[in-house]
Amino acid sequence: MRIDLHTHSDRSDGSDPPAQLVANAAAAGLDVLALTDHDTTAGWTEATAAAQDTGLGLLPGLEISTTHDGAGVHLLAYLPDPDHEPLRHELQRILDGRASRLPSTLERLREVGIEITADDVRRAAGPAAATGRPHVADALIDLGVVANRDEAFERFLSPGRPAYVDRYAAELVAMLDIVSDAGGATVIAHPWGRTARETLTSDVLTELAHHGLDGIEADHQDHDDATRAELHELADQLGLIATGSSDYHGEGKMDCSLGCNTTAPEQLERLLDAAAKARTATGRGIEPVLP
Ligand code: AMP
Ligand code: ZN
Ligand code: FE
Ligand code: FE
Repeated sequence: MRIDLHTHSDRSDGSDPPAQLVANAAAAGLDVLALTDHDTTAGWTEATAAAQDTGLGLLPGLEISTTHDGAGVHLLAYLPDPDHEPLRHELQRILDGRASRLPSTLERLREVGIEITADDVRRAAGPAAATGRPHVADALIDLGVVANRDEAFERFLSPGRPAYVDRYAAELVAMLDIVSDAGGATVIAHPWGRTARETLTSDVLTELAHHGLDGIEADHQDHDDATRAELHELADQLGLIATGSSDYHGEGKMDCSLGCNTTAPEQLERLLDAAAKARTATGRGIEPVLP
């Protein structure tokens, strides 16, 4: 069983339409995939239909923009009820924050001499429901200003660069509650990756585990081998599920292809059990497509 629990489609900042993502996952030899677009469930219907046709297992999920102690934390949510009102409300607020940030980003780019319009970004974003800096990066590529997304982030879009603008994110602990009330399971994405290591100390992860967090993503491109080993050990100590994933973005980010990191079958079983428990407790949540 090959299981990849964190991927993006073109409904956020990946490049594959959801059905194409499912086809590519099957072609890559995966048995189970989770679609986890940033802050939107817009790809779920198409991906679910494609998985049912293909015989691939699918967990509809999300990667939610949250914040803890002032630092950004990406929270993976699996199988929550997308119609649960508090969840819908928070996701809408995050999407609104993404949209309202764009004019300031473009203004700052103009201040450093780059002529770029909202239409340029809209064109680059295509069918995305969640627009973000990667789409601004794509527009800059189309305009011939940069060669790739990495260069756009390094020169303009990362924190501390001239066109970085902050946006709304949900409070992490509140979001843990919202997702479990929606019948879903929660896993912190790349906890010791680029940004959150100082915030998500072992002590903080211990508290979050007590607060109902289900798992942490140990095997991710942004973690070196030593970090992965530490996170697996911490997960064992805390009784957390340890997952692995590609964080695939298609053409959008080429550092890791589908299945480059995977989740062990027994860890997937635990995740499905956690979601089933939340579903029973709340009467909400959705069923996965099983392979
Ligand atoms: P935003 O959603 O607007 O906050 O943009 C952050 C997203 O951009 C992250 O979730 C990544 O998917 C992507 N990203 C961050 N850094 C880079 C980079 N150097 N190259 C390509 N994509 C990136
Ligand atoms: Zn992304
Ligand atoms: Fe992330
Ligand atoms: Fe991601």
